[in-house]
Amino acid sequence: MSEKKEIWVSKFGGTSLANAQQILKVKEIIFADSRRKIVVVSAPGKEHKDDIKITDLLINSHNLIEQKKPFDETFALIKSRILKIAETLKINQVKIEKELDFIYERLPRQKSSDYAASRGEYLNALMIAEAFGAKFVDAADILFLTKNRTIDSKSYSKIKNALNECDELTIIPGFYGTGEDGSIVTFSRGGSDVSAAVVAKAIEADLYENWTDVSGIYIADPRIATNSRPIEQITYREIRELATLGASVLHQDAINPVKEANINLNVKNTNDPQADGTLITKSRDYSKEKIVGVSGKKPYRRFSLEKYLIAEEPTILDQVKEILNKRGLQIDLKLLSFDTLTMYVYGEIDDNLCRELEKYLLDIFKLDSVEISNEVVLLGIVGEGLHQEKEFIDKLNEVLKDKFSIVTTKFPIKTLLEVELENYTEVLNKIVDIIIA
Ligand code: ASP
Repeated sequence: MSEKKEIWVSKFGGTSLANAQQILKVKEIIFADSRRKIVVVSAPGKEHKDDIKITDLLINSHNLIEQKKPFDETFALIKSRILKIAETLKINQVKIEKELDFIYERLPRQKSSDYAASRGEYLNALMIAEAFGAKFVDAADILFLTKNRTIDSKSYSKIKNALNECDELTIIPGFYGTGEDGSIVTFSRGGSDVSAAVVAKAIEADLYENWTDVSGIYIADPRIATNSRPIEQITYREIRELATLGASVLHQDAINPVKEANINLNVKNTNDPQADGTLITKSRDYSKEKIVGVSGKKPYRRFSLEKYLIAEEPTILDQVKEILNKRGLQIDLKLLSFDTLTMYVYGEIDDNLCRELEKYLLDIFKLDSVEISNEVVLLGIVGEGLHQEKEFIDKLNEVLKDKFSIVTTKFPIKTLLEVELENYTEVLNKIVDIIIA
């Protein structure tokens, strides 16, 4: 009996497919390894910093139609970018032009923007399939979404059946599927990551490659931390923890399907295919790299409420939450202990509103005191081996005296620090230096 061949699902993001030259780079990558059989594609993204993504141009077209304004100019931009790709790839332009005309006709008849938003992926997949001599499978026929824009589990068997032996190179548009009423529905923005994760789980892929324009997930945001570099290996749990405090490379909903199916995910750079990228796995040997990364999110305000045995007033938290929600504010973290309730509230809150809220909370809950801090950054240091790194905080204290305070060290793989806005860059850089030392 012949051995089962490995199958990889490879997803390419918008910048990897922004123009024909990028698409040709992708072609080289795909044909360099025959395990790359199932390819999920985004719509053409930005070629230059100031460009508008095809997806946004399509959504803009829909919005103009809604406002009863002409959308021809916007649609002409879409058409010219798409046709330029078709021309350079030497594929059948008449066919693509027909598709574009069909979309143009259909746009004014759509209630939601989903159909419009999805067409960038659809057109790109069609063109790429033709240019690569591959099979095109429409996501609308195999992926099904619920009302909440999450995956409907019936998709898994549909995908498995449609792709059965996976012996032919297949291109699938990302980002959308069919909704409960039969119309096109998209995931939230960046959702092609989710499509590929679902496909990988359905066919029990051996690897999920996510090709983007950076060489992996960085120890810390490289725009702020000068010595930051890509992480070689990270667990799904660690990546979740980094993402809750702002680190973003993958769509949040892309993690669960592959994590459940125990499929490794390799984040790779289309512009530097030789670089290893970052491998995301269920577990890792953390004897050497105890800490993988650090991420920061801002602005937060720390709310400190004091009252004798506040911890025994079960409804107070819900009530505060409601008061803040009404003002469009969200509590990201709460710490309750005997006489104090500390909360970190995310978003910009005007100083006057802070003073008003202090007074209001003091009166309504008959507090002993209440204080809302200046704007701060919450910083999470993450690692499966963090518990074995007892001297880390001491090292930080040595180099960063008084520049941070510890919020909690009680999470299994995350230590949380609070940092004043003005110290953020310095603290982040120092932490990265300690991690890579
Ligand atoms: N093209 C869509 C977006 O811009 C989806 C994606 O790229 O994953 O959000």
